[in-house]
Amino acid sequence: MSSRTVIRGGLVITASDEIHADVLIEDTRIAALASPGSQNWSADRTIDATGRYVIPGGVDAHTHMELPFGGTHASDTFETGTRAAAWGGTTTIVDFAVQSVGTTLREGLDAWHAKAEGNCAIDYAFHMIVSDVNEETLKEMDLLIEEGVTSFKQFMAYPGVFYSDDGQILRAMQRAAGNGGLIMMHAENGIAIDVLVEQALARGETDPRHHGEVRKALLEAEATHRAIRLAQVAGAPLYVVHVSAAEAVAELARARDDGLNVFGETCPQYLFLSTDNLAEPGFEGAKYVCSTPLRPREHQARLWQGLRTNDLQVVSTDHCPFCFTGQKELGRGDFSKIPNGLPGVENRMDLLHQAVVDGHISRRRWIEIACAAPARMFGLYPKKGTITPGADADVVIYDPHAEQVMSAATHHMNVDYSAYEGKRVTGRVETVLSRGEPVIDQREYTGRAGHGVFTPRSTCQYLN
Ligand SMILES: [Zn+2]
Repeated sequence: MSSRTVIRGGLVITASDEIHADVLIEDTRIAALASPGSQNWSADRTIDATGRYVIPGGVDAHTHMELPFGGTHASDTFETGTRAAAWGGTTTIVDFAVQSVGTTLREGLDAWHAKAEGNCAIDYAFHMIVSDVNEETLKEMDLLIEEGVTSFKQFMAYPGVFYSDDGQILRAMQRAAGNGGLIMMHAENGIAIDVLVEQALARGETDPRHHGEVRKALLEAEATHRAIRLAQVAGAPLYVVHVSAAEAVAELARARDDGLNVFGETCPQYLFLSTDNLAEPGFEGAKYVCSTPLRPREHQARLWQGLRTNDLQVVSTDHCPFCFTGQKELGRGDFSKIPNGLPGVENRMDLLHQAVVDGHISRRRWIEIACAAPARMFGLYPKKGTITPGADADVVIYDPHAEQVMSAATHHMNVDYSAYEGKRVTGRVETVLSRGEPVIDQREYTGRAGHGVFTPRSTCQYLN
């Protein structure tokens, strides 16, 4: 089967250019771009994008569909989560396969393949969470890289669950230095945080807002610093996930100024929400419990600055939804039992477009931090993350003038609340193609579970 789609009259925006152009898609790939109206391409399907943006599908490099956590599991399956992602203009997710302590990387990866295969509406890839560093695990890292799983996440937080000590981290980093892998770090001093949690609960401080108070910015900064120095000793690159504290951005900026291959990601919740949300009355604050935690509003300016100056390179969601009813409620009377995570995979592209409207970033930077940089960071570029001949035809027709109000009543994520309930934003996804096939067509879902395929990745493309 051969099919041709032409997208006419839109403003094509990539990380590097903004041009009015027609786009020709042949089968699953971008075939050509041309000046508007200059080519008489025949087509099976023509999309009029006049007055619209034509942008690469979003690449969300940090999701946790179905993640088991704290005695429950994230409420989006690969099926519901990838469908919601498509609604929000994201056409690739990189999710985290989990190695549990006492099992192999292979067992963890196989389990995540089984969850995702045949269920995804959009393409997907995997990082590997390494919870148990030993000789066998280190050898397995090499094999996973050959299979296109080229990044490995470790945790300085969550002692007794995902936690690795400095020696285990150093060993994994040394292995990554040799095999080209990228170590991703959850940088919070979990040992110290657990002491503060225990002390807070002993004082009767059980409300959700205390989650933010015990997970101190300084303990994020300290862990970020330590991770950077361990990576430096190992001679390995480092990617710090969900950076939320101004002090942690400063650590990354300093390391980058020193010429180190250190990268940072932040998430929309840290850019748009704050400890004010965690302090909402009743138990409402539980909706905003995630780690790293939301910070006081003052931190936001440093995050935006970091995104502008490239001290932060990527915005991902850390999408890890838990319903308020029955899941977040597990932590009533003890904030430490609230499952950690926020929904957001559907909201990222729109919130970052709102950042363009608000003047925080340029349109091209929007596409860079949401599409191109995550694709490059995790070895998917230019197949994903841009619009160029040869690239996968993952394309979003975006209406930059449409108004929408974010709400659980209208979103497609399988979770009973929105972290952005009532937030008015300008801009909305209209049509989404995944490898040339319409997944969202004029705001109707036309995709199907199983269209999305596992996408092997090369190693980080920011390293030389
Ligand atoms: Zn995460």
